Amino acid sequence: MSFALQEAFPELKPPLTPIEIQEEASRCLECGGIYGPAPCTSACPSGIDIPGFIAALQGGDLASANRIVFSENPLAGTCARVCPTPVLCEGSCVLSYVGLPPVDIGRLQRAAADYARNRLTVSISPQHQAHRVAVIGAGPSGLALAAELARMGDRVTIYDENPDPGGMVRYAIAPYRQRVAPLDDEIQPLLELGVTFRFNTRIAGREAFLALESESDAIFLGVGLGADVDPQLPGQHLFGVWQALPFIRDLKEGNPLAVGRFTVVIGGGNTALDVAREALRLGSEQVTLVYRRDRQSMPAYAYEVQDAEKEGVRFNWLATPVRLLGNAWLEGVECQYQELLRDAGSRPKPRPIPGALFTLKADTAILAIGQSVRRELSEWVPGLQFEHGRLIVDAETGQTLNPQYFAGGDLVGGQSVVEAVQWAKRAAKGIHQYVAGEK
Ligand code: SF4
Repeated sequence: MSFALQEAFPELKPPLTPIEIQEEASRCLECGGIYGPAPCTSACPSGIDIPGFIAALQGGDLASANRIVFSENPLAGTCARVCPTPVLCEGSCVLSYVGLPPVDIGRLQRAAADYARNRLTVSISPQHQAHRVAVIGAGPSGLALAAELARMGDRVTIYDENPDPGGMVRYAIAPYRQRVAPLDDEIQPLLELGVTFRFNTRIAGREAFLALESESDAIFLGVGLGADVDPQLPGQHLFGVWQALPFIRDLKEGNPLAVGRFTVVIGGGNTALDVAREALRLGSEQVTLVYRRDRQSMPAYAYEVQDAEKEGVRFNWLATPVRLLGNAWLEGVECQYQELLRDAGSRPKPRPIPGALFTLKADTAILAIGQSVRRELSEWVPGLQFEHGRLIVDAETGQTLNPQYFAGGDLVGGQSVVEAVQWAKRAAKGIHQYVAGEK
């Protein structure tokens, strides 16, 4: 990323100074004990002993703090930067019950993780016979699973269609949260333990999966979701209209697309908010997000909506785009107001209000209405089934309806890197049970 881009995308949460680490760590009450874990640890999908590593930091023992965070989460440095902490560990911190700000767990974890590169603790039992496991997808769930299995002595090969590992962390997480580092440092221990990476390799079609099945004891699907959903709006071909994922990927690779003065973002999830905030940083003077339901129904985290608002993103709730206007270049987005039909027990359904049309001036539009589900997998692998857009798996083991296959991450409904780690840990146990003939 060029110097100018780095200037435009300073980190949202820069690291704490040594004095700040001490001050922040000293606020922790070290909850938990013999009757149960601390609330923050219970809220952490990867189960990190949060009061444990904070106490180590407070005692100046960074090496122990480092060991504690990596012992539960091989992507602890990445998670420290990108986790939605206000709805996980920090959202459960007891200090907020007495009106105080929660302990800044994310940045303390960053201090612990950044102290030294992870040394994966190898624990291979003498009777263990190395299993051959193929992992499809070098994103967070694939990497975390490989770490778990490799340290237990298994032979893991990861296939990914991209030229580099990291999946959404490398290519889609907003650069003001994490550019690339410390991802490469977190992958290095996998290489040291003998994990094989096959990049630029797309596994597609029944033949390719048959070949993997014959040479692997188990296969893990960590492929995430597919391309951006195409809303098929009239005028989508106009210059100035982008899909969200290529927009972010180009930005992260240091080749940002030129945004105009007036940007309209279509969508209501966290990706839509990210691209809106990125467009502001890239120099767009007015960024408006259009979402078909109301504020309360947005899938994005409420705190992210607030932060985007503070930065200057405008919101047009209860509106959908009808068509994109212009000749060769985009000039505006015609939208229609919606009303919500509320049915007990289900999400409110938007219904267009006849004739309630309005036009937003726009020279850039970014379509961020979600990613497609990789249903093609069920054509290539017998037994795989989807329900409500998620691959059906056993909640305890990640095992799919085809027993040789396991899955985790976005494919099964995980929404964050730390949830991908959680699924990977379950799947590692599940794979061992399966290969041992227990499942
Ligand atoms: S809940 Fe808050 S105060 Fe209690 S251990 Fe966790 S971080 Fe510390």
